[in-house]
Formats: sequence, C-alpha cells, structure tokens
Amino acid sequence: MNSALQHDLNNFENILEKARQQAIVFLNNLENIPTSKKETIDTNRELNHTGLGSLAVLEEFNNRLAPLMVASSGPRYWGFVTGGSTPASVVGDWLASVYDQNTQAVTAQGGNSALIEFETIHLLIQLLELPKSFLGGFVTGATMSNFTCLGTARQWFGKQYGKDFAKDGISERINILTATPHSSSIKSLSMLGIGSQNYTTIKTIQGNREAIDREDLERNIQNLEGKPFVLISSAGTVNTADFDDFEAILKLKEQYNFWWHIDAAFGGFAAVSDKYKHFVKGWENADSITIDCHKWLNVPYESAFYLVKEQHAALQIETFQNSNAPYLGNPLENFNYFNVVPENSRRLRALPVWFSLLAYGKKGFQDIVENSVSLALHFGNTLIEDESFELLAPIHLNNVCFTLKGDHNQEKVAQFLSKLNDTGKVFMTPTVYQNRKGIRASFVNWRTTENDIEIVIDEMKETLNILSL
Ligand SMILES: *Cc1c(COP(=O)(O)O)cnc(C)c1O
Repeated sequence: MNSALQHDLNNFENILEKARQQAIVFLNNLENIPTSKKETIDTNRELNHTGLGSLAVLEEFNNRLAPLMVASSGPRYWGFVTGGSTPASVVGDWLASVYDQNTQAVTAQGGNSALIEFETIHLLIQLLELPKSFLGGFVTGATMSNFTCLGTARQWFGKQYGKDFAKDGISERINILTATPHSSSIKSLSMLGIGSQNYTTIKTIQGNREAIDREDLERNIQNLEGKPFVLISSAGTVNTADFDDFEAILKLKEQYNFWWHIDAAFGGFAAVSDKYKHFVKGWENADSITIDCHKWLNVPYESAFYLVKEQHAALQIETFQNSNAPYLGNPLENFNYFNVVPENSRRLRALPVWFSLLAYGKKGFQDIVENSVSLALHFGNTLIEDESFELLAPIHLNNVCFTLKGDHNQEKVAQFLSKLNDTGKVFMTPTVYQNRKGIRASFVNWRTTENDIEIVIDEMKETLNILSL
C-alpha cells in the first residue's frame, strides 16, 4: 500500500476525530458565519507528487478553503429555497459515506440498501399522506426528479400513438401544457429531446396569482382536439409559493387523456400541516410528483425523490433500463434502481432522510413547516408596516416577494439587495414578478427564529440609510 494511504489507515480514528471537532465548531457557530464572502481563491494549486496525508490536507483546507464557506445552511440564508441540515440528517449523510453502499438491486448483493430506500420512500409517503400506489426513489435534486418523471411521461405519450420513443426516438410532437413551470422542468424538456420551447404557456389566474387558469387550460386542451398531452403543474411556485388547483385538474383528468405531473419540490411539504394541506388537496391523483428533501426536509444536498404511479412502472423501466434485455412480466420482479433512474451507481442517498424522519417524526416536520410559514408572515407584516417596502404578492405559504415601495425606486432594487447581501447577515435573491423588480425571501430553514427577522430588518433599515433611500 502507498505510504500516505497506509499512514492514514493507521491513523483513521484520529483523522475522523479531527473532522468531527471541526464540524462541531462550524455547526455551533453557524449563525455567526457570514451568508456571503467577497474573497475568492486562486484555483491554480499544483498537484503534489507525494501525498500529504489527511491531517495535513485538513490543515490546508482550514487555511485556504474553510474561510470561504458561507452559512448557506444557516438561519438567515433566505435566497432561492435553501434548507439546512438537522443533526440527524448530518449523521445519516456521514454514515452514507462511511458505509458506501451501491444502492441498486433489492437482493442480498445490494446489502439491503435498496430496501432501506424502499422503507424511506414508504416513510415519506406516510409523512405526506400519499397513497401506496406511488413508487419512488432518490435522485440528486428536483431537477433530476422532474427529468425522471417527464422522461416517463414522454414514454407514455409515445404509447398513445403505439410508439416506443425510448427505443426509436421521438416521432410525434409532444404536447406539453404548463402555466408557471420551474426552469428545471424546461431544462428537462431540453435534455429529453422534447425541446425547451415546445410547450404551451397557459394563463395564470387573473390578479396577483401564479396558479394555472382553469378556463384557459380547458381552452388549450380543446385546441388539441383529443390529442394526448402532458400537464406540468405546480405545488409551490418559487416566487410566491402559489399552487395550481388540483381538484379542478382532477376533474379534467376524468374527461381528458393526459399525464399529470406535479412539481412539488418544496410546496409538497404543505401536506404535513393541517393548516396548509388544503393547498395540495387532490394531488394524490397525479401520475408523477417531484419533491426535494434538501429544501424543507432540511437534509444536506443532494437529496430529492420522484414518485410515479405503480401502474406506470413499465414505462419508467422502458425509459431508464440499463440492460437491453426485453422487459417481460412483472416490472417489479428483479427490481433494480438502475433501471428506473438516470444514474447507474448510486450512494445510499435515502439514509439522511431515514434518520431525519425517525428522529423528528411527523410532528417535527409539521413544526418546521408551520414555523417557516409563521416567520414568512411575520417578515411580510413587518415590511408592510414599514413605509419603504411593499409586497409584490400575497404570502401564500413560506415565500415573501417584495420590493422597494414606489416605481421611482425600481432602478434601486438591485443596488439595495447587493448592499444588503454584502453585509453577510442575510442572503436573499432578486426576481422579476409581474414586470416589477423585486426580492424574494424563502423560509425553510429549521434554525430560523423571530430574532433572525429582527436582525435582518435592522440591516435592511441600515442599508436604506446608507443608500439614502
Ligand atoms: C428548487 C426547485 C427545483 C429544482 O430543484 P433542484 O433541487 O435545485 O434540482 C424545481 N422545482 C421547484 C419548484 C423548485 O423550487
């Protein structure tokens, strides 16, 4: 064995102990770590011929790289939709690396890790109160989940014409209808060869809404004259966390022939709260659903899952099968994850979620969701009371979309946000909503408290002062 490796092997316990101590220092200090950093590194480091050993590298990491890390998992990182990592999820994530399973087949060779993934999906289905008729698995993020679900929808579409698109390529125009798709669904259309421009945009409900307009949807369906289509609907849009009306879509499903996909990356977690589950009423009737765990479930990146109705299992295998062996009989016989997702080799990505669900239970996630929403409302109300800000949209759930009050300030929004983010006390992301420049704050982190809102409001006032706004 190479001497650096041999030395590390002998020293394993000490190395892990050092890493553990470092983790504690970072995690216990997270709220004081800036949410942005100005410094960058020189990326031209030369590769050394002889290995330094883990402890020396840890030291270099601490000197050069660790100071650049931002508190993206901290309580005031409100940009995009960014979750944190609960203690149980960190344990699960570490152990997934330690055990380093290749999660594929449901057999002894797979070391049962695929069964742990089955069990985790089963727990998630209980958390979200979805039926057992969904089969699921883990992928890196909602983007890959949308890709997996829409890839299966593509195969379904071909079947409506008696064709096998996975084998023979796409030979029919695939009709996609959607109102406010996330950019990752559009990216998936591009990756799937459907085309990022080949979709019909349905109007949203009049007024301050991002949800699909039922009448315009029905008009567009009628334009298709009975042809099949794929509907990409939203449970939680990124700007305003708006939801399509799933009960209305269900009625259409009884009348028309379409694949119904729901992107519920973060909004799906509304289902864990009695207060907010009405937003997803009827979603159990979808053909496929995308959900992220690295957002509201507060596990480390990369963690998301797909749910596809069991009746479509064969379509999913046709799309993602790794062997060219003709598929025969029960698709769940000889089940192997590498036949249903883009990846072949896969880590035990379910483990952080498994740990989290058992550690905190349904109540734990209900509390995280309800706390996030109440903080969003609290932040929104504070903005309304301040004469310098206005909300761009009502707060449906956990996202606050606002701007500097008055059209004359539109040109100053970007400058205000960049100055505010430079403080490192908070991080929010810019947006354009209904042709107005705005700012989004998304509340999903388990650590955020009312005290954080106060800290941020103070910084916002200070920034207004500095810019004489
Ligand atoms: C975040 C998000 C995505 C993309 O998720 P990744 O995990 O970044 O791949 C897709 N859809 C919605 C609604 C999202 O919020």
